[in-house]
Amino acid sequence: MLDIRQIPILNDNYVYLVREPGGCVAVVDPAGVTPILREAERLGWTITHILNTHHHPDHVGGNVELKWLTKCEIVGPAADPQRIPGMDIKVADGDLFKFGTEQAEVFFVPGHTRGHIAYWFKDSAALFCGDTLFSIGCGRLFEGTPEEMWTSLLRLRQLPPETRVYCAHEYTESNIRFALTVEPDNRALRRRAAEVRELRSKGLPTVPSRLGEEIEANPFLRADVPALQAAMAMSGRNPVDVFAAVRRQKDAF
Ligand code: ZN
Ligand code: FE
Repeated sequence: MLDIRQIPILNDNYVYLVREPGGCVAVVDPAGVTPILREAERLGWTITHILNTHHHPDHVGGNVELKWLTKCEIVGPAADPQRIPGMDIKVADGDLFKFGTEQAEVFFVPGHTRGHIAYWFKDSAALFCGDTLFSIGCGRLFEGTPEEMWTSLLRLRQLPPETRVYCAHEYTESNIRFALTVEPDNRALRRRAAEVRELRSKGLPTVPSRLGEEIEANPFLRADVPALQAAMAMSGRNPVDVFAAVRRQKDAF
């Protein structure tokens, strides 16, 4: 099993420090350096790897300095070699990345960026999905089409419902405000809204969430679900079109 620690950084990013029993320690999407080194030191962990999901600065900003300071190896998307600073190990869809005694399956999930990948640690039920899937949201389509993003989200949706979604941002509250305008009567969404209100009032993170709950409450995973389609007045339409419409509404929200 992985030992996973969450480090809030910048405005609303989460960086994860992940340790496997053999002592390998990965930083997932280092947005910076100091808070990560401080936490690793506090835990007595030695950073051996960086796992990048995509090239945005709030995900790779710490790559070069952390590599220089720790001599760690940087793992990132084979599809985006130019834009991941210091990348040593390129991984692509379906690859198994061996991480000490554990392993991650890699999914190619374009849409937010054209090279975006996600890491699924099956035995620990942990999914590191960067800016593809958020709790009650998904990433903006900076470099991809609605069809690409919907296909990527479907890929993640078929993972076991107990999977924990370790996304890279604390956007849940505003995502819920939008989602409630789409599906105000969704009971799973209302339940999640109450839970998130409670967590945030205590200053606690709403991430990770459980994939099973996302499937019931996240409008971006529901473009092929009759209730969501009806709420969008798009019953029977192609899920890609429904997804695109929800995404467009969110962009304008
Ligand atoms: Zn991003
Ligand atoms: Fe981001």
